[in-house]
Amino acid sequence: MVAAWRAALKGHRVALLEANQKLGVKLRISGGGKCNLTHDGTVKAMLAAFPNDQARFLRPSFHRFTNADVIELLHREGVDTYVRENGRVFPLDRPGSAAAVVEAFVALMQKAGVEVRPGTRAAGLEGRAPRVAALRLQDGSLLQADAFILATGGASYPETGTRGEVAGWLEKLGVPTLPWTPALAPIPLKASHAAWEGVAFRKGVLRLLEREGGRRIGAFSDDIVFTRSGISGPAALELSGLAEAARRKGQAWLAYDFADSTETEMDSDLRHEQTTNPHLSARNWLQRWVPERVAESLWRAEGLGDLRLKDLPKGIRSKLVGWVTAFPLGLPGVVPLERGEVAAGGVERSAVDPQTMRVKPWENLYVCGELLDVDGPVGGYNLQAAFSTGFVAGESV
Ligand SMILES: Cc1cc2nc3c(=O)[nH]c(=O)nc-3n(C[C@H](O)[C@H](O)[C@H](O)COP(=O)(O)OP(=O)(O)OC[C@H]3O[C@@H](n4cnc5c(N)ncnc54)[C@H](O)[C@@H]3O)c2cc1C
Repeated sequence: MVAAWRAALKGHRVALLEANQKLGVKLRISGGGKCNLTHDGTVKAMLAAFPNDQARFLRPSFHRFTNADVIELLHREGVDTYVRENGRVFPLDRPGSAAAVVEAFVALMQKAGVEVRPGTRAAGLEGRAPRVAALRLQDGSLLQADAFILATGGASYPETGTRGEVAGWLEKLGVPTLPWTPALAPIPLKASHAAWEGVAFRKGVLRLLEREGGRRIGAFSDDIVFTRSGISGPAALELSGLAEAARRKGQAWLAYDFADSTETEMDSDLRHEQTTNPHLSARNWLQRWVPERVAESLWRAEGLGDLRLKDLPKGIRSKLVGWVTAFPLGLPGVVPLERGEVAAGGVERSAVDPQTMRVKPWENLYVCGELLDVDGPVGGYNLQAAFSTGFVAGESV
């Protein structure tokens, strides 16, 4: 939508093809329907949230159409925004706030004269390097144009229209692509914790290890929430891509550190507590860190009775310390691509000119948004990447 709007403002006759009957289906469900549309702060700080090689690629477009530009544009279209404490920017809370963002872009396109063709699925590209001649539509007809911008998104949440097939068309044209893999997805766990559905582990660190007690592959400080089949929540989403890659290598184990401290530190804390507070129930001590429902079930599973800190056997003390510093979540299951808030992979960045979003060596083919191999963290970064790269693509045709 941003690319179409910019291209039309340049005086081009623009048609936007959308497979769905409605525009912006994914945008409407983003941020739980509230649409975390960008992040507050400097462009430099925003870029720092991406891996270095992605940030290098995004730098020119993030400067051309900044987070402040997005916010100002939406304000002009009547969508007020606010910044949450964690820097995430949202439209003002009211029912349908994400839809208001979509409507703002629809209005901008309308004013710029973009012809929107909903319910039109493209099925392929026709042409010979260095020029694409036409887009083949699902009904077999051809749509010729001087230039083509592909803004077809990733391959997750296929029910929103994004099936990832466009990467296959580009491969056929010799454009390098990377396989789609899940990012920002919930992580299924091999061991069932269905009884803990809805329980949250807060303010700790989710760690990904090669194996139980093994080398650390990754970590993310934030909450997790148990689902019926595994874990969700910000830390789970952030580590899901790494967890899936590690699982494929057969080297993945998850643990949650409630206290962000080492075993030795926690052990000495507990010993100190044993001397200063000997009559405290061991279960109550555990519940300072571990949610009650979980502490209770651990207590029951281990057959531990009413134990005071002063009477704690050494073996139980190290168990308690282990639960707090490396709570075993165990082996991750297959992280589903379709449940990722974004899909990693897509068009290789090296094939795209970051100043224009033109696909090399094609003269009239551009890509933007999640179709690119760009996947930022949770926090409005992915939508900003889509807005900024879309803006540059639209300006460049
Ligand atoms: C549940 C969820 C929540 C999210 N929340 C946030 C958030 O709060 N903040 C954030 O920054 N990011 C969020 N994201 C990620 C963000 O929504 C995407 O990264 C972003 O929408 C990508 O924009 P895009 O324009 O590249 O692709 P999309 O928004 O996916 O749009 C691509 C469009 O292309 C259409 N299309 C695909 N193939 C064809 C074809 N062959 N022919 C015609 N049309 C086609 C699709 O129907 C789709 O409408 C969320 C994602 C999900 C799934």
